[in-house]
Amino acid sequence: MSKTKVLIIEDEIKMARFIELELKYEDYIVTVSNDGREGLDTFLNGEFDMVLLDLMLPGLNGFEICRRIRKVSNVPVIMLTAKDEVMDKVAGLDIGANDYITKPFAIEELLARMRAVLRRSPSKNQNGTIIKFKDVEMDLESRIVRVKGNVVELTKKEFEVLLYLAQNKNTVLSREQIFNKVWGQEVGETNIVDVYIRYIRTKIDERFSERYIYTARGEGYFIKDEEE
Ligand code: CA
Repeated sequence: MSKTKVLIIEDEIKMARFIELELKYEDYIVTVSNDGREGLDTFLNGEFDMVLLDLMLPGLNGFEICRRIRKVSNVPVIMLTAKDEVMDKVAGLDIGANDYITKPFAIEELLARMRAVLRRSPSKNQNGTIIKFKDVEMDLESRIVRVKGNVVELTKKEFEVLLYLAQNKNTVLSREQIFNKVWGQEVGETNIVDVYIRYIRTKIDERFSERYIYTARGEGYFIKDEEE
């Protein structure tokens, strides 16, 4: 698995620095912003797996940042709130934060919350539209494919071939089955399936040095996922 990328938006320098060091020690990749507006820009221009978001910030406050993040992303957000901001906690969850933690907190507590939130939303999407096998995620709505967290560009047909295999994990699908499913009424030869399998293998198997699509000699292709 690739390392989890965390964005910390927190204006208390010491607090931000403390969390940063602890998270790096735990093998997270950490980016820190001490300003609300800059933090939001950093988020929008980067790729993060999680945001730790302070509430009271210069530039833009945490609520506003969370609201804007939610317009474009389901990234897990944990709000860092001060003790006397109980009402704010409720509002924080209301605007789409996944969890909150009250300052001051023990770092172990934060780490546990982070792991829990990441577990609950492993696919950055709660709509059940993600198909997964091994470390590949296929988002059926956005049609975005991620391998080990990296976005991979597939053409429409490549996506459909891979999806059909992914929906039938551990089952060998013949060229004819794949052809009928993906090309349907279109005229053509079933060996176009081999060509597309080769394209997909170049983009995912070879690029990520992993075997995703297996060949059943003389029978067809399949995706093996032992965790199922
Ligand atoms: Ca603050």
